[in-house]
Amino acid sequence: MQLRPHHILDIISGYGQGIKFQPHPYGHSLHIVAPKLLSNLDLKIKLVLSADDICEGCKHLMPDGKCKDVLAQLKPSPSKQAYNDVLDCRLFDYLSIEINSVITIRKYLEIVNKKVPGIEKICTHPKRNQEERLNGLINGLIKSGVREQI
Ligand code: SF4
Repeated sequence: MQLRPHHILDIISGYGQGIKFQPHPYGHSLHIVAPKLLSNLDLKIKLVLSADDICEGCKHLMPDGKCKDVLAQLKPSPSKQAYNDVLDCRLFDYLSIEINSVITIRKYLEIVNKKVPGIEKICTHPKRNQEERLNGLINGLIKSGVREQI
């Protein structure tokens, strides 16, 4: 499975917030990937800086592998492809992980856990609340068994 680093954080924080992963109007595969990932932390993944398994089926995925969506919450609305690439470059750097590394979900979450709190300052999407993101990540890591409940 190939995944963008921030897409995994979206899944973990959503899981921590009790979100149900259901088919999305975009047609992407988040509802298929999330349960697979959450039910088997020993799954090996390749951390990529490109379209990933979640993008599969998305109406915004172009034949050249680029995303044509925009961040509609901002005016003017920047390209999501450019936004995602910068965000994931920042995460690769912050977590000291090489692009295209192959590791288990568990190992990735253990690395992330060492940066919680902190990572929410880099990886909270525009106009979303950093504290909610942080709480979602903490709860998701606890529910996954990667973080101890204090
Ligand atoms: S990054 Fe773009 S192509 Fe991938 S799921 Fe999101 S909107 Fe679709």
